[in-house]
Amino acid sequence: MKLLQYCLLTASIALVVTSNAQTKKQDTDKKIGCVTIEPFGFNAFDTANPRGLADNYYLWDNGKTLVVKFMNTGNSKYKELVKKYAKEWEQYANLKFQFVESGDAQIRVLLTSGDGGGHYTRGLGIQLLNYPQSEFNLHLDTSDFVSPDAAYRTIVHEFGHAIGLMHEHMSPVSGVKWDKTAVYARYKLLQGWNKEMVDAQLFVKYNTSYANGTKYDPKSIMHYPISRWETTDGYYVDWNSSISEGDKNIVKALYPKGTRTNEVPRFSVTNFSKMDIEKSNVKNGVSFYPSFTISTAGKEGRVIYLTVFYDEEGNPVSTTSKDFNFSGLAATNKSTVLLPGQKIEVNKGKHDLELFIPYSEIPQSISNKKVSARFFVFLTDKEEFKKLYVSDAVACNMVK
Ligand SMILES: [Zn+2]
Repeated sequence: MKLLQYCLLTASIALVVTSNAQTKKQDTDKKIGCVTIEPFGFNAFDTANPRGLADNYYLWDNGKTLVVKFMNTGNSKYKELVKKYAKEWEQYANLKFQFVESGDAQIRVLLTSGDGGGHYTRGLGIQLLNYPQSEFNLHLDTSDFVSPDAAYRTIVHEFGHAIGLMHEHMSPVSGVKWDKTAVYARYKLLQGWNKEMVDAQLFVKYNTSYANGTKYDPKSIMHYPISRWETTDGYYVDWNSSISEGDKNIVKALYPKGTRTNEVPRFSVTNFSKMDIEKSNVKNGVSFYPSFTISTAGKEGRVIYLTVFYDEEGNPVSTTSKDFNFSGLAATNKSTVLLPGQKIEVNKGKHDLELFIPYSEIPQSISNKKVSARFFVFLTDKEEFKKLYVSDAVACNMVK
């Protein structure tokens, strides 16, 4: 694996610690319509070159019917708008949205009114599966539906993320000449975003290798508006309130009527329920048994199951160990290749995946202390390194 990937991975793991606090700041966003919250971190720290416009690794199966449910009673007028506008995508993508009143759903919409939450999806496409059925994964604040256009562009934009589309202004070929100093200052003042956050939401430039044959499209419904003050040459983009020709082309390529051509491993982790931790004086170390389900589609791919240790302050622990070291961090991992079309229950009922670390390899700084551990799942495929899942911190008593 490349050194760059390791460096980014370290940043990614370190960032998990602060992502909750930053998510709260994201929630204050009203001005630009939407922030896509990648589960447990930001796209900026995912090396996956998430295409010009869509992340192929997070696409749903082509032809799939996505079940959608509202998580609250909400205003029936707005519910009808959501149903109507979400289905706009059905004209171009080989997908269907089926709205249900109860039971399990892949897309779970929370409608609020002026809660300050703004509009966002908790990830792209199949990343929405990372969250338990009891939680929403698409948030809409209906107090912003001040005109038919505003409601339309907001709903269509968010459902665009739900099918895997990314922000168009991050297109690697946009050529937007950002006035970065002005943008950093403005977003810090308005929304409390730090530089990292602004970089992640506006300035990340993705690799062109998976642009899915499309060009930069300033008319895209997935484009933020850009004000003149945000660019050095006065370039601006107004609110876009319709699905553009470019949008139609990309979703037709991603979800064609026939067979999808640009297929990749598309794996998702669900049902993480717990991580059993067992200390053994016979094995002379600690065993971790994360319990989850992994579903595979698309193509075969390699996954890495990883447990990383965090100190009492919640920071990842550095190590000099040779074998229990992931990107300089104290960790234990296993890697395996999975074929597509599987649904594998791991450590459900019986222990069938063990991540072990000997006492001798646990860094002195956390030896005999009460610390915590997080479970990660990564997918590696060619040059790509995708974060599939990160658990909450699990208490981990290292006292022998
Ligand atoms: Zn968005």
